[in-house]
Amino acid sequence: MDTEKKQKYFVSRKNSIDIKCLACGKVRTVSVESLKNKRHSITINCPCTKTFEVDLEFRHDYRQKSNLIGSFRALSSPKERARHCVIADHSSGGLLLQMAEELPIKQDDRLIVSYRPDSSSPRDIERIISVRHYAPGYRIGGAFIDTNPQREARPLNTATA
Ligand SMILES: [Zn+2]
Repeated sequence: MDTEKKQKYFVSRKNSIDIKCLACGKVRTVSVESLKNKRHSITINCPCTKTFEVDLEFRHDYRQKSNLIGSFRALSSPKERARHCVIADHSSGGLLLQMAEELPIKQDDRLIVSYRPDSSSPRDIERIISVRHYAPGYRIGGAFIDTNPQREARPLNTATA
């Protein structure tokens, strides 16, 4: 039958994906690192002579563990009132902050987070997050609600459950 369903692969944290040839069942590992946010389909030439195209869907949530010193404050608070935190995890979609003190924070609060994304950055950046979950005295998970001019790719409209 020619009405073969095109395979779709989701790419997030990994830099390679395993693509299976539906004709012979052979699995090959394909590096997609260089394709990130650029191409959304690739053609596979399987040794069994089958040629097929697969769709790639890049999740824009490349979550990375980190251990960055930062600070955060409520939108209405002056900078001097910022609290220290550790950015334990960051992605293009948001941040996970760890802190030692309990604060009156609730879901949907907006916070300004200041941190240096990597050691080669000349200065701290400030991002605004909306609190998605808060474990008192422990950590805050938040999603960026500002737009990052440095973001290279347009986020896909991916419905993530
Ligand atoms: Zn094959």
